[in-house]
Amino acid sequence: MLGIADAALALLLAAAGAPVGAAAGRLVPLFARHDPGPDDDAPPPPPACPACGAPIPFVGWLPAVRLRGFARNGRCPACARSVPPSAPLAAATGVLFGAVGLSAGVSGAAADPVWTAALLFFAAVGALLAAVDVRVHRLPDAIVGPAYPIAVPLVCGAAVLESAAGTPAPALSAADLGAAAYPLGGLAGLAAFYWLLWFIHPAGMGWGDVKIAGLVGLYLGAAGFAAAVAGTLAAFLASAVYGVVLLALRRATRRTQIPFGPFMIGGALAVLLAGPHAGLPGLAG
Ligand SMILES: [Zn+2]
Repeated sequence: MLGIADAALALLLAAAGAPVGAAAGRLVPLFARHDPGPDDDAPPPPPACPACGAPIPFVGWLPAVRLRGFARNGRCPACARSVPPSAPLAAATGVLFGAVGLSAGVSGAAADPVWTAALLFFAAVGALLAAVDVRVHRLPDAIVGPAYPIAVPLVCGAAVLESAAGTPAPALSAADLGAAAYPLGGLAGLAAFYWLLWFIHPAGMGWGDVKIAGLVGLYLGAAGFAAAVAGTLAAFLASAVYGVVLLALRRATRRTQIPFGPFMIGGALAVLLAGPHAGLPGLAG
């Protein structure tokens, strides 16, 4: 039953998500398209100003730009032109943050604040990655790389705390620490699965999809094995339906490359926020 407090939490988070998404939108145009030939091993171009091509360095441990001026108003230090914030990404991130609030509710967010924070991080980074993938068919290292060292402690911490909350012992037991095996197993399992798909048929699966598979698996694994299967099936099913619809509308041919990252992220978010396995296994049970 949705109470007023739960609705207020969802609205509050939605209002917090909009500026996060707007700011993240400034990062989207920094990544250029990269379509190497079959024998071309050149790395994709680093993030750069879309107006003048000057490099825009990233922090390294955070999916954010290192230049303080850029972070404030999107201004390129070389040509002084501003990269605009993104209204669609602001709307998408706001909606996702609101959905995290609705899914957890006040009691869930209070019982498991670390899991709620982990979901908000996944929503923000996932929306950004999906926007870049849709635009230039890339899932850049500058965003994917730092997402792991932030998400792994958040999700594993949530799993351990949730296990500890279910046992009467005051101190953390070995069994509580073992709860981290679920997200870590999901990370390894889904990364291996997508790597295998890529290895068997490199043209069918992008390397970027393999890079984010561990991140997606980390979250789905925390929610349990059934959630990992459901989230993965949802991604393949939704992308297949999307492809068939494009074919029927003659907007695509059978050779059109459809970015898969948004479906991986969307499938995971759908299962984590709205599926029967929403929440961590202990909370759901
Ligand atoms: Zn510039």
